[in-house]
Amino acid sequence: MVRYVYDFRDGGRDLAGLLGGKGANLAEMTRLGLPVPPGFTVTTEACRAFLATGAEPDGMAAEVSRHLSALEGTTGRLLGQPDDPLLVSVRSGARFSMPGMMETVLDIGLNDDSVLGLAKVSGSERFAWDSYRRLVQMFGSTVMGVDPALFGEAMVLLKGAREAPDDVHLDASDLAWLVETYKRLIRDETGQDFPQDPAGQLRQAVLAVFRSWNAGRARVYRRREHIPDDLGTAVTVQRMVFGNLGPGSGSGVAFTRDPATGQPGLYGDYLPNAQGEDVVAGIRDTVPLSALERLDPRSYRQLRDHAQTLERHYRDLCDIEFTIERGTLWMLQTRVGKRTAEAAFAIAAELTGEGLITPDEALGRVHGEQLGRLMFPRFDTGRAGPELAHGVPASPGAASGAAVFDSAEAVRRAAAGERVVLVREETTPDDLPGMVAARAVLTSRGGKTSHAAVVARGMGRVCVCGAQDIAVNTGARRFTARDGTVVEEGTFISVDGSTGAVYAGAVPLVASTTMRYLESGEQTGSVVAAVARALEHADVVRRLEVRANADTPEDAARARRFGAQGIGLCRTEHMFLGERRKLVEEMILARGDAGRDKALAVLLPLQRQDFAGILRAMDGLPVTIRLLDPPLHEFLPDRTELAVRVAVAEAAGGQPEPHDVELLDAVNRMHEENPMLGLRGVRLGLVVPGLVAMQVRAVAEAVAERVRAGGSPRAEIMVPLVGSVEELRLAREEVTRVLAEVGEETGVAVHCPVGTMIELPRAALTAGRIAEEAEFFSFGTNDLTQTTWGFSRDDVEAAFFSAYLDKGVFASSPFETLDREGVGRLVRIAVEEGRAARPGLQTGVCGEHGGDPESIRFFHTAGLDYVSCSPFRVPVARLEAGRAAL
Ligand code: PEP
Ligand code: MG
Repeated sequence: MVRYVYDFRDGGRDLAGLLGGKGANLAEMTRLGLPVPPGFTVTTEACRAFLATGAEPDGMAAEVSRHLSALEGTTGRLLGQPDDPLLVSVRSGARFSMPGMMETVLDIGLNDDSVLGLAKVSGSERFAWDSYRRLVQMFGSTVMGVDPALFGEAMVLLKGAREAPDDVHLDASDLAWLVETYKRLIRDETGQDFPQDPAGQLRQAVLAVFRSWNAGRARVYRRREHIPDDLGTAVTVQRMVFGNLGPGSGSGVAFTRDPATGQPGLYGDYLPNAQGEDVVAGIRDTVPLSALERLDPRSYRQLRDHAQTLERHYRDLCDIEFTIERGTLWMLQTRVGKRTAEAAFAIAAELTGEGLITPDEALGRVHGEQLGRLMFPRFDTGRAGPELAHGVPASPGAASGAAVFDSAEAVRRAAAGERVVLVREETTPDDLPGMVAARAVLTSRGGKTSHAAVVARGMGRVCVCGAQDIAVNTGARRFTARDGTVVEEGTFISVDGSTGAVYAGAVPLVASTTMRYLESGEQTGSVVAAVARALEHADVVRRLEVRANADTPEDAARARRFGAQGIGLCRTEHMFLGERRKLVEEMILARGDAGRDKALAVLLPLQRQDFAGILRAMDGLPVTIRLLDPPLHEFLPDRTELAVRVAVAEAAGGQPEPHDVELLDAVNRMHEENPMLGLRGVRLGLVVPGLVAMQVRAVAEAVAERVRAGGSPRAEIMVPLVGSVEELRLAREEVTRVLAEVGEETGVAVHCPVGTMIELPRAALTAGRIAEEAEFFSFGTNDLTQTTWGFSRDDVEAAFFSAYLDKGVFASSPFETLDREGVGRLVRIAVEEGRAARPGLQTGVCGEHGGDPESIRFFHTAGLDYVSCSPFRVPVARLEAGRAAL
């Protein structure tokens, strides 16, 4: 038979799935012999059954009353007994903590009779009526669905009439009056009376907690925290103990060490003469636990001892809720506590040092996201004003500067020594110089894989994108925040790329010691030492290699300092921007082979120099250079602007510039409705004569140059957007021919492995064939996600992703966290069939997912050889690759 109820003496923390975190830990503390008020837990299984059918599962009610009888036996009192009532609390407790998201009802068992008995045995009429008042209020809102604000209003009116600054100043008769008022309110609002039957109160409260699993705020919280919707909550029923029985009583929260810094020692807050709810609600000011040491040294010492017992037992920082009832300490809850990123690393290192946990366990307790947070300067938020806007935290860190609204202005002001923040609706490759010049980028459109986000992450620029609550008016050089604040060009703003917040003015910064360590190896302080230890251990245990996506020598050098084991993606299109755009224009416009060859010949030495610099920075490590990928028209001027310029010149009766006419003609010729599905990647290389040859020659000559200089260059050539083995075969023939040619010319035998990106479903599905021509595969999961789902990676997020997230179509954007079911399946198929065709085939990933912790776990299990991500994500990826291998 299924068992729906567990006494605290029967469970343990290994039953968290069934008893919820709270129930499991109460059972664990009971087993450890700590002073826990007795009680029992109704399981998550009962909740799931109730939510599925709308009725209590068979047998649950009988089990609850059996356990209630046992509790009554233990305490020697009956629930709601008129002369000396047993009262119980009914609390939610899911497997994963969802603080404040679900319901609680306290003081179950009070009614018009037992309130009098409670007054007598407690010796305090005020206390009894206050408890009853709390029950009617909580029950009315939680179980019977009355708007809580109505109770609040009644309380405010009464306090006003009594001129009472807070509820402590209300006396017993005031509170008795309030109980009657609340009961009337419930009757008026629901047509039903507040139930006087204690067992009925208990039953209804348990079901209300079950129902609160599906409350709107709980759903939203679960989605944000990636908690599955089908777990359900357990319900704990526990004898009430009272912290509000006078000055010898009180409630508090404690941590077994400081959750902000990780420093050892009991830490927390205490509120004399109060219930636990009052501490959390912040109604009155708490005092530090050191004050409890003076007020009640015995209870303090016990609490300290119990805290130590718990930390030793759980081998981790625990938080504790406790109540002191007339000098007796009761432990009401414990769990492994939340902590800051600093504390997470510090505690993991310290507990390893104490021999309490192994280095593997320590690594399991720190996350890549926490490391990411430590790597960037932070705002001193205590000194920040209110938020101006909030967007997607796209590239971490914090920076302030004068708002500017176009790239040229950003460059101009930065050259004059000003700090600027580039604000755009969204960015394009044209904004690149401005993004380089700016301290931060803020856009009102686009998500984590928008151009602004990807480029800013690559450069380590702070970026908040998709801040939909600002209206950017580029023409007028200002933006308007939702609250109506207008930010004109030149006004200082502060952008927090780790949280998505945007503030007015310049918020002071706190520098990152972790970044200093990663850049220079200098270890200052215990947190940095702890980070170093975690990374070192991750490097020992991980199987995945970590490379970087980088296309300048500076980025390559930084990636190497951060621990990258090579470059997994060098995007060569970035080398065609800026001043070189003119040369690309000439190549495109050239009539006949001669003109084109001339333009390519000018580009050749420039590319060679680029590659030589990167190969030098990565000497001895692999550098995967990708042939040109984006459609050529991206290097030409905007079609509409050009058409307008030509039309205006014609309308004025003059002759348009011949160059403009020629350009417009070329732009029109190349125009595509769907350029991302058009002439790009390998297709470009196969139809534009000389392009592949120029790029490969540049690579090969750079390799030869480095070899002659005594270096160990390890270039690899990667062909993008391949869908068929034929495409790759043709491209590879060209590559091999040029490599041999350069080998002969230079006398240096240039061997570069040739591989392909897998970024089309067809490539994944025909990977066995493609592997015949490829020495390695690199999964371009940005395009592979785009082409598998049919979502445009550039447009989709602003348009309907938030609706899809709300509707639960997916829990996170598939452009951020790899969709295992679909895209992941293609990856697995390609790895398996590729390796079957070519044993030893190298496989890696270079899409944005290469730096995403959850995706890295998948790539580890899928058996890839490496992940490649932006240089600033390299330490995070090292850590997560280590964690994936545990
Ligand atoms: C990809 O598609 O995942 C990739 C790395 O290439 P790009 O982002 O340059 O298209
Ligand atoms: Mg791609």
